[in-house]
Amino acid sequence: MTFDYDLFVIGGGSGGVRAARIAASEGGARVALAEEYRMGGTCVIRGCVPKKLMVFAAGHGAAMDEARAYGWQLSVQGFDWRAFRARLDDELSRLEGIYTRNAENAGVEIHHQRATLIDPHTVALADGRQFTARHILIATGGTPFVPEAFEGQGVMTSNEVFLMEDLPRSILIIGGGFIACEFACVLQGLGVEVTQFYRGAQILRGFDDDLRHHVAAEMSAQGVALEVSTDLVSLERLPDGRFAAVDTGGGRREFDRVLFATGRTPNTQGLGLEEAGVVLSESGAVKVDDWSQTNIPSVFAVGDVTDRIQLTPVAIREGHAFADTVFGGKPTKADHALVASAVFTRPEAATVGLTEDEARELGRVKVFMTSFRAMQTAFAEGTSKAMFKLVVCAQSDRVLGCHIVAPGAAEMIQFAAIAVKMGATKADFDRTVAVHPTMAEEIVLMRNPAREH
Ligand code: NDP
Repeated sequence: MTFDYDLFVIGGGSGGVRAARIAASEGGARVALAEEYRMGGTCVIRGCVPKKLMVFAAGHGAAMDEARAYGWQLSVQGFDWRAFRARLDDELSRLEGIYTRNAENAGVEIHHQRATLIDPHTVALADGRQFTARHILIATGGTPFVPEAFEGQGVMTSNEVFLMEDLPRSILIIGGGFIACEFACVLQGLGVEVTQFYRGAQILRGFDDDLRHHVAAEMSAQGVALEVSTDLVSLERLPDGRFAAVDTGGGRREFDRVLFATGRTPNTQGLGLEEAGVVLSESGAVKVDDWSQTNIPSVFAVGDVTDRIQLTPVAIREGHAFADTVFGGKPTKADHALVASAVFTRPEAATVGLTEDEARELGRVKVFMTSFRAMQTAFAEGTSKAMFKLVVCAQSDRVLGCHIVAPGAAEMIQFAAIAVKMGATKADFDRTVAVHPTMAEEIVLMRNPAREH
């Protein structure tokens, strides 16, 4: 049977574009890609990239405060959100253009519209055209989840943050994960009064407990009104457009805006997947094996739509591995072990490997930990502290987990991740000479365990 294309990719985000480019440029495949919104996907258009630029914007505020302690005479007029947003929009358009050009230069034919699956080898475009393909890749990502009770009440998700016309004076953020904590710090840093409700006992569930407590303390100290074991019960839209929120403690408070950061769900609705026989999980994610292949041999899926690890670099690896396997003659499984990640709070939190609790389940551990005011902070009489922690297997001396809360922690963890991935031992860390004076040197200077159990 002849097909219109060798590969049809649905979704122009990180995973889809990588797979399309590699299949076309290195695998010699005839590739088409459909994207219904903007090329670049969540990461580039309404996720990692604009978020990180907002992190930089907020960081300048804190840096200016510190600069005064270093002798700078400053007079600051305040933050101009509209000016920043205009630059942000330009930058995202530039990046969108690069994504589009890179794919097109690799020979990928882009359809700027929605595509749905018709059968294991056929997709339909919104304009009615249908194409056949030997392989179809679902890379449609995820979408913010808002609990049903609060849908349609004018609340925001991360999608809308970057589109705000003006910064609110006050905001209520619901959730305690990556997005809630990052936006709490960013918006607070830009001058917004931030209240954050988290339903559990401590934010950043799944991360190491010491890291979680440290980040929570830092966020509270910098002015985020973080309320744990607190959830939103009801919302009322006031005549002036503001919100009255009632929490589980019975309190009623008013906020300009409400932002839900309560997780993301796989983007599989209305894609024709189930009708075509593709099996989905209970959460609506496309079920795939280690090769990113679904139960239908010609249909594959990568990235957030599979709900494995919702991180851009993971989606890129999955997309690349798929293209290598199917079109490059290099069977490759995406490696999901020891994936480092960072939460861009202020200070940043970054982690690779096991938490102390996870490691203890495997056996006896030694925990090395330090917390201190960095030189730069101490000079400015700031109170913020950095934290470094290593979780080490007591038997093998192997470093099982590394957890850092510090300015630049995300940059540091990338290198620590190489060592941890290589199976470095604590002795390997110890015999590495420190780079002085830095914060990161602490990672090789922790001599005595804080505890062993
Ligand atoms: P997360 O899964 O990280 O966090 C969701 C939060 O919402 C949790 O605190 C969860 O609580 C809470 N929650 C879920 N449902 C409800 C509900 N019905 N009512 C109240 N609270 C609720 O999701 P995010 O939305 O923060 O981010 C999605 C994913 O995107 C992340 O998991 C991450 O993989 C990725 N991401 C990565 C970033 C990075 O690398 N820096 C940045 C942003 C996102 P509980 O813990 O109790 O379940």
